[in-house]
Amino acid sequence: MARVKFVCGNWKMYKTTGEARELVRALAPLVEGMGGKVQVAVAPPFTALAAVAEALRGTPIDLAAQNVHREAQGAFTGEISAGMLADLGVKHCIVGHSERRQLFGETDEGVREKVVVLFKAGLLPIVCVGETLQEREAGQTLAIVSRQVKSALQGLPSADVGRLTLAYEPVWAIGTGKTATTAQAQEVHAVIRRLLVELAGGVADEVRIQYGGSVKPDNAAELMGQPDVDGALVGGASLKAPDFSRIVKGALR
Ligand code: PEP
Repeated sequence: MARVKFVCGNWKMYKTTGEARELVRALAPLVEGMGGKVQVAVAPPFTALAAVAEALRGTPIDLAAQNVHREAQGAFTGEISAGMLADLGVKHCIVGHSERRQLFGETDEGVREKVVVLFKAGLLPIVCVGETLQEREAGQTLAIVSRQVKSALQGLPSADVGRLTLAYEPVWAIGTGKTATTAQAQEVHAVIRRLLVELAGGVADEVRIQYGGSVKPDNAAELMGQPDVDGALVGGASLKAPDFSRIVKGALR
């Protein structure tokens, strides 16, 4: 089964509501007509979700969020639930981004809880995994990534596994301008795919595995041309409509 490539822009803590609307207005015409051939989503900060939901109406671009709380509701000051995201028209949600793991203490177990709460609310998780430079240099890449994937999938019904997106994001490549080579990316993606087959059987074929880490217009097509690279999670380059649309086009080649 051919997997439709999936490109998601992670806007991180950038863009006011006005700037976010402007970015969508610039982006929408550039990706028009690509709908169906490649799936596109943008993940603005929470404060801009409602404005972006409105601006995306009638476009082929999906709305994504960058994080969610693991509980459905409760006394958790400053947090946002999966139900609240669904209410705004959010379809996908990034979990386990390395910035959240490193700066905000997100654990493998916390990621798993978020995956469960997202599926319960009808949202589709994008689970980020990836090794640090130190772990790569110590030859631990495959062990670390396998541990993160196994943990995220633990206890998930196979129908849900098939609707999952994974994003392999080597931490040393995020926001650094250093990209994994296509061979490095494909090696890890193939290992993840084999692990998915072991854990979930046939549905492994349906799981999209994005690559993330300094994806730019000039390296996107080559990365996404690898057999197990099913799209991209894009940080910095998703903040400029022309760059992001060129990356999306790279998924079509
Ligand atoms: C990211 O934040 O997920 C990311 C990959 O960032 P960048 O593209 O800027 O490296």
